[in-house]
Amino acid sequence: MRRVTIAIDGFSSCGKSTLAKELAHRLGYTYIDSGAMYRAVALFAMESGLVKDHYMDLQGLVDALDGIRIGFQHDDTTGRSATFLNGRNVEGSIRGMEVSRHVTLVSPVPEVRAKLVELQRAMGREGGVVMDGRDIGTVVFPHAEVKFFMTASPEIRAQRRYLELVAKGVQVDLAAVRENIIQRDEDDTKRKTSPLVQAPDAIVIDNSELTAEEQFDLALGHVMKAIGEPEEVQARR
Ligand code: C5P
Repeated sequence: MRRVTIAIDGFSSCGKSTLAKELAHRLGYTYIDSGAMYRAVALFAMESGLVKDHYMDLQGLVDALDGIRIGFQHDDTTGRSATFLNGRNVEGSIRGMEVSRHVTLVSPVPEVRAKLVELQRAMGREGGVVMDGRDIGTVVFPHAEVKFFMTASPEIRAQRRYLELVAKGVQVDLAAVRENIIQRDEDDTKRKTSPLVQAPDAIVIDNSELTAEEQFDLALGHVMKAIGEPEEVQARR
């Protein structure tokens, strides 16, 4: 079967990763969470004192970039892929609100983006990849065979993200989660370098009113059409 590239972009907390993981699982593809890579850079910057509150030592971060190694490895304890920063499993630390609050300071930096985009392209070179983020269908893989652009109302996104964090044992309040989502949408859409925009050839999925299953079926239908070989994978369902 032809192994294509699937790019999923969209606003914060739209369920991109849920859809991406499910598609990757069903198709036997590799899932790559590009947001985790920006979060890992933010964590590095926070831990190195390069970013604090709303201040960032831009030159310090640029100088430190060569010493930042980011990758994904299987975590036997969770049975899932985990994000590694310089050899350390940072999967837990990058998901909290502190990193969410600081990530949009580092993500517009052109040098950060150049480094991560190069890594992402290398990870997806062979195809058979589902990658989610903000610039996957526009910058990282502009020739991806399938592109989705996901959106949902801020209220619904905040509610889902809040429940997700609570389930992970993170102490947060709904208003703070909502505020962070709205702020990151604004930062991500208004930045100069690779802003979040819908690729002209992306399929828009507004999942405000869709269940995860309905959304998955809709997306899989589009992927099968692009692959042009429906029977083989559908038989695995
Ligand atoms: O996907 P997630 O919400 O974890 O991404 C965290 C942040 O990383 C986003 O708010 C955005 O600033 C940045 N990001 C990006 N480009 C990507 C993926 C994420 O700028 N491809």
